[in-house]
Amino acid sequence: MPELRQNFFTKEWVIIATERAKRPEELATHRPVLEMPSFVETCPFCPGNESKTPPEVVRFPINGEPWQVRVIPNKFAALSSEVQPTRSLQHLRRRIDGFGFHEVIVDSPDHAKCMALLSDEQVARILGIYKQRYNVLSLDPRINHITIFKNHGLDAGASLQHPHSQVIATPVIPSQVRHRLFEALRHYDDVGECMFCHMVEREVEDQTRVVLKGEHFVAMEVFAAATPFATHIFPLWQIARFGEITELEIADLARVLRTLLAKIYVGLGNPDLNFTVRSGPAEYARARHYHWYVSVIPRLTRVAGFELGSGMFINTVLPEAAAEFLRGVSVEKVAGAGAGK
Ligand SMILES: [Zn+2]
Ligand SMILES: [Zn+2]
Repeated sequence: MPELRQNFFTKEWVIIATERAKRPEELATHRPVLEMPSFVETCPFCPGNESKTPPEVVRFPINGEPWQVRVIPNKFAALSSEVQPTRSLQHLRRRIDGFGFHEVIVDSPDHAKCMALLSDEQVARILGIYKQRYNVLSLDPRINHITIFKNHGLDAGASLQHPHSQVIATPVIPSQVRHRLFEALRHYDDVGECMFCHMVEREVEDQTRVVLKGEHFVAMEVFAAATPFATHIFPLWQIARFGEITELEIADLARVLRTLLAKIYVGLGNPDLNFTVRSGPAEYARARHYHWYVSVIPRLTRVAGFELGSGMFINTVLPEAAAEFLRGVSVEKVAGAGAGK
């Protein structure tokens, strides 16, 4: 029987269409494995080509040569830090001058290695840079929201092959995010506890949707997943802001995230995907009602008319089957601890 499920958090309904259910492995890309070189002479993100990018924001190690992670302003930035966020209202038309920050994080010097193939140590370095940029940009009083994300593959919006992540800091809180913050606060006020803490505790106990669990983080399939293999990684303790994460916790998150990405890479044939860090705003330092998390969305299906018309998604893979499938994918042969640089 098909089933409608409601996302506990966004309140969105999705249709889990078991009538046209696919076995998880049927969604694998079967894409031929392209042998990519580790260095491409014309790539602006490859070592030696640093002068082809805008002046560097920061690198890791600081002033280090060779570098391991590099942050640069986006050459084709969506927003500009050169203007002020001046607001204007004319009748119903509200505008703000396009102030903001748009940065690119070059994940590693290696052109060929997507995050799934890097070492846990390198992923931890990248996450450390995410934290640093989040905290630095949060200090700007004109910034109200920071989105950290990765586009992997053409269908996920990546325009340059060299693996990289991006940060966009905006002068407004997007309405989707505001809705989430409100829902979380409403739940806390009604029930007296963080809705995420409650959900995570139940899911860890239940286990059917859990893909893997570290000391501080758990990766799980979303109960009301809008798309196949939509996976969230939650901290196992109450924490509203990503910027509060410690070194030890970063190391554990790197293991959990890298292992999850490797399972998706191996099990589903390196599909295009996005992931994003969904943090509470800077002023949520001690907030008890919100809980940051990482959302990983493989791009295995396309959005069609029904989704556009209703905002309701049809998912053809049972989240429980997706979790079972990913648990069973062995990634021992793929990088991980101690491998690579
Ligand atoms: Zn490159
Ligand atoms: Zn919580």
